[in-house]
Amino acid sequence: MSAPFEHGSQPAACYIHVRGIVQGVGFRPFVYRLATTYGLCGWVANGEHGVEIVLEGNRAAIETFLHELTTRPPPAARIDQVDVQSIQPAGFPAFTIRESQRREHPTTRIPPDLAVCEACLDELFDPADRRFWYAYTNCTNCGPRYSIVLGLPYDRLRTTMKDWPLCPDCLREYHDPTDRRFHAQPVACPVCGPKYLLLDAHRWQEIRGVAAIREAAAWLRAGRIVAIKGIGGYHLACDARNVAAVQALRERKFRKEKPFALMVADLEVAAALVELDEVAREVLTSSARPIVLLPARVCLPGVAPDNRELGIMLPYAPLHYLLYAAGAPKVLVMTSGNRSEEPIAFTEDDAFARLSGLADGFLVGERPIARRVDDSVVRMTTLGPVIVRRSRGLAPGVVATLPTSRPILAVGADLKNTITVVIEGQAFVSQHIGDLDHWPVVAALRQTIRDLCAMYEVVLEQAIIAHDAHPEYISTNQALTLPGHHIAIQHHRAHIASVLAERSCWTERIVGLAFDGTGYGDDGSIWGGEVFVGSLHEGLQRVAHLRPAVLPGGDAAARRPVQAAAGFLAAVEDLPDLAAPPFCFPEQYEMAREFVARGLRCFFTTSVGRLFDTVAALCGFTRPISFEGQAALWLEHLAHQAPVVQPYPFPVEDGELDFRPLLAAVLADRQRGRDVAEIARAFHEAVAAAVVAVAVECCAAYRAHRVVVSGGVFQNALLVERVAELLRSHRLELWINRAVPPNDGGISLGQAALAACAGVVE
Ligand code: ZN
Ligand code: ZN
Ligand code: FE
Repeated sequence: MSAPFEHGSQPAACYIHVRGIVQGVGFRPFVYRLATTYGLCGWVANGEHGVEIVLEGNRAAIETFLHELTTRPPPAARIDQVDVQSIQPAGFPAFTIRESQRREHPTTRIPPDLAVCEACLDELFDPADRRFWYAYTNCTNCGPRYSIVLGLPYDRLRTTMKDWPLCPDCLREYHDPTDRRFHAQPVACPVCGPKYLLLDAHRWQEIRGVAAIREAAAWLRAGRIVAIKGIGGYHLACDARNVAAVQALRERKFRKEKPFALMVADLEVAAALVELDEVAREVLTSSARPIVLLPARVCLPGVAPDNRELGIMLPYAPLHYLLYAAGAPKVLVMTSGNRSEEPIAFTEDDAFARLSGLADGFLVGERPIARRVDDSVVRMTTLGPVIVRRSRGLAPGVVATLPTSRPILAVGADLKNTITVVIEGQAFVSQHIGDLDHWPVVAALRQTIRDLCAMYEVVLEQAIIAHDAHPEYISTNQALTLPGHHIAIQHHRAHIASVLAERSCWTERIVGLAFDGTGYGDDGSIWGGEVFVGSLHEGLQRVAHLRPAVLPGGDAAARRPVQAAAGFLAAVEDLPDLAAPPFCFPEQYEMAREFVARGLRCFFTTSVGRLFDTVAALCGFTRPISFEGQAALWLEHLAHQAPVVQPYPFPVEDGELDFRPLLAAVLADRQRGRDVAEIARAFHEAVAAAVVAVAVECCAAYRAHRVVVSGGVFQNALLVERVAELLRSHRLELWINRAVPPNDGGISLGQAALAACAGVVE
C-alpha cells in the first residue's frame, strides 16, 4: 500500500479503496469505530469492488487510521490491497455508514461460511442472555455467508434471512456502531428469527425450538438416525459407537465401505480418537471447520472399514453445540444427507423426498439454504494440509489472480466437479459439486454456473468457456451448450496448471508430473502418468510418460482392480496362475484376460492410478471397489505398516517409465511369501524413486529447478512425503496444491489458468 501523507496536523481528505474479503465480516463497523475513535469524518460503504472509505480530518489521525486498518482488521477479514488517493475535503460533519451502491461488475468476494465465534458461544450458554439456547445466533465475526447469499452486494435483503423482519432489540443492535452485531446481515433472536423443529419419519409430531433440539439429542442417544439441517445442507447423524445404528445407516444409504465422517464434541474427544498434532488442531479449529483425515487411535466398527484414518470435524453451527449440550453422543457419524453419490439435500422438500426411509426423524431449521455446500475435507501430510474437497468455509474464495481481463468460465472435469469463474483476473473456485454420472449432479452443475455467473455478472457471450478435451465428458457437453468462446484444455496439463496458478507462476519453466486414474490424452488414449516441461505461457510439452499398457473395458476398469491387472500383467512374461493362491483372482480376471487376448474393447493407457490398482490386486485387493480410489488408498495404508525398504526396479528409458520389471518383482515376492505390507512399501518407494529420477533428468535436460506434482495419485501422503524427501537431496523444490485439491476438484482452476494464458497469446 502507498502512504501519500506527510506527517503533520493539517486538515486533509482521502479516498481509500480496500480489496479482499471485506464484506460480511464486520468490516464497515470496524472502520466506523476506528474513524470515530480518531475523530475523523466522512463515510464508508460496500462497493462492488470492495469497501470504499472517505476520510476527513488531521493528517496524523488519518495516518494512524491507515496503520490500524491494515494491522488489526476484524478476525474474518482478509485485506489484499489498499489504495489511498488524496482528494479535496468536502466538509462532512460526521462519519457515517452509507447504504450499498451498485455500479459496475461485482468483484467483491463473498465470504465463505464461518464457524460460530467464542463471543456468540458465550451468549448461547448464558441463561441471562436473550439468545440463550438460540440455534441461529451469529454476529459480524461469525455465521453463515455464502450459503445464505442470494445476490450482491451482501445485504440482508439479498440473503435468505429477508423474510424475518428484525425485532426492536435486534434492530437496535443492527444499527448500533458499537455493537458486535452492527450491520450483521443474518442477525436474529428467539423473538424475531427462524427456529428449529423436529419431525418424525412420517413428518408428524412437530416439536419446536429448544424442545426440538433436546428431543433430537435423545433420539440420537437411543440409536436413531436423524437428518439434521446444517449450514450448507442436511447431514444424516447417528451415534458412532452404536454399531447397529451405524450398520443401519450403511444399509439405508447403500454405502458399503466408504468411510463416514465424524463430528466430535470437542478437541478432547478428538484426541482420544485420532492422533492430533499442533497443525491438525489448528486446521480442526479453523473457521472453515473442515473434516480432517487423521491417523486413528481406536477402531469404531463400521465407521471406516479397512482404513487407518478417521475423518473428524468439530461442531461449527450453534445447533451442533446445542445438540452436545442436550446430551447427544459425543461422537456422531455426520455424513452427507443423500443416497450413495447423489448430491446432498438442502431444501426441505428434497430432504423429505430423498431421505425418508433413511432417517428416523428430521431436525429441520427454518432458515433456507441458498445453495448446497458440502463439508470440506483436508488430509494432513508432512508437507502440510492438503485439501481433498474444497467446499464449506473455503468456497467461493479467490484462489488465484490470473493475467487476463476477459471473463472466463471453466467447467472442470466429470469427477469431483467444481467450476471456476474468473472476473477481472480473480479466480473464484466453486464449492464441490460432485460426480457428473448422476443427473442431479449435472443439474447442480448447471445451477452453480447460473448462480456464480449471475453473482459476478459474467456475460457468457463475452467469456472464454474452458472445458476438458474429452469429447464425451458431460462437462464438455454442458460447456458446448453455453455461448462464448470455447477452448478445450487437456486434463493432465490442467492438473499441473492448477498448481502454477496458485503460485502465480506464469513464465518459469518447470517439470510437472500429473499422475491420476483417467484423463483424455492428446492421442485419444487414456492418460494418467504424464511428465511435462514448460510454463503456463509457453505451454506444457509432454516429455515422458508411463509405458502404455492395455486396459480391457477402458474407464470401466476403474471399478475392478483385477481388470486393470489383466491389462498391465499382459505385458509381463512367465505369468503364474493368478487364480491360484496366493493371488486367488476371481473369474472377472479370466474374462478380462480373454478380452486382452482377443483385443476386444481394449484401450491403451498410461494411467498410474490403474498401476496402483494392479499392485493392490496382487497384494490381495481382488474385489470390486465401492468408492473411487479405494484400492490405491488400501495399498497406501498397507504400505504405512512397513518400514522403509528397497524400492522395486522401475526404470525410465527413452521417456517411458517401464512397469514390467516392477510387476515381475511384485509377483516373485508374493510367490515367495513376502509380507504384503513390505511389498506395498517397496512399490511406493519405487514410484517415488521413479518420479524423482525422471524429474531430475528432465530438470537437467530442460534447465528447470522446480518440480510440480498433481493429480489424484498425489493425494497419497506417503508417496508425496517420499518424493519430497528424495528431491531435497537433489536440491529441487517440490510444489504441490495448497488451495485446491490435487484431484479433479482442482481441474477447473487449471483450465482457467491455461485459458487465461492462451487468451494473452491470441
Ligand atoms: Zn459471533
Ligand atoms: Zn430479534
Ligand atoms: Fe485427473
